[in-house]
Amino acid sequence: MKQDTSLLIIYTGGTIGMMKNPATGSLAPFNFEKIQEEVPELKKFGFKLDTISFDPLIDSSNLQPEFWVKLATIINNNYNSYDGFVILHGTDTMSYSASALSFMMQNLTKPVVFTGSQLPIGTLRTDGKENLISAIEIAAATDNSGKPMVPEVSVYFESKLFRGNRTTKHNAEHFNAFTSENYPPLAESGIHIKYKKQYIHTDELKNEFTIKTAMDNRVAFLKIFPGISSEYIDALINIPDLKAIILETYGSGNAPTSDWFIAKIEEAVNKGLVIANVSQCNAGSVNMEQYDTGILLKKAGVISGYDMTAEAALTKLMYLLGEHSDVEKVKELFEVPLRGELTK
Ligand code: ASP
Repeated sequence: MKQDTSLLIIYTGGTIGMMKNPATGSLAPFNFEKIQEEVPELKKFGFKLDTISFDPLIDSSNLQPEFWVKLATIINNNYNSYDGFVILHGTDTMSYSASALSFMMQNLTKPVVFTGSQLPIGTLRTDGKENLISAIEIAAATDNSGKPMVPEVSVYFESKLFRGNRTTKHNAEHFNAFTSENYPPLAESGIHIKYKKQYIHTDELKNEFTIKTAMDNRVAFLKIFPGISSEYIDALINIPDLKAIILETYGSGNAPTSDWFIAKIEEAVNKGLVIANVSQCNAGSVNMEQYDTGILLKKAGVISGYDMTAEAALTKLMYLLGEHSDVEKVKELFEVPLRGELTK
């Protein structure tokens, strides 16, 4: 760690900073000063820790793309003044935000670590303290040459640091709320924090840091299920101005082979919609060449999400549609890794 390290903590809300409303018994956010009172250890870091709090603080279930623009803009405005950023965020949509930010930020060379907790920081058995303290330590960590250890968007939770756009919230009960089935952890903490350098993105990025904020939300999910009807698909593909549909398919990218189903997908592709295929399984990859049920989708013009999470696929499409009006360009870029979000 450098002597003059400075970090910016961006507090957006979420369980980590909530307390019980005595009147209703439900959880509502409290301000960052209260967090500092609960975690006096923060003073022991011995470097500059500044804070920006969202106003209002939000439960992340209420988040909209404008929230990502606000977050990216705060980082952009403060990029040159800090060595790293820690974002305190609700767990419900943390994987969406970490994925969105990874695409919106261009030429990132500093750590942006998302964390939160399953129990509020003021409760006795909270997981929030460890998550916050370790996230700060990771954001401040440098290698022997003084370069940041993890210069990418990550999620720290329950002793593991993951690439943000590879994560999914998989557990609403346990402290290990997040999983990254298709990419190994970037670091693991025990007595020491062990960084897995071989998995961390450390390419030399020469261009200046910038953000892209034109997220286009004209995107929809279509989860395939036994009994799906043509009316259901019709309703979706006829949404005015819709630009893209993410098909959540079975296993390695499979869907029904019925003529009517394939005809509907072809109709959507011919209308100019981007139809992308991600798996309902957390682990493994879409391979539309493995079974007839996938080959037909590929022939109909569906593009592959490979091993991308649904969160990464959604936010990547919003980002690409915001940046490019040419549908073919969107399709081409969707299938290549932009921020380590997929493996081909
Ligand atoms: N509903 C909360 C949120 O996402 C849950 C949490 O933080 O764990 O803001």
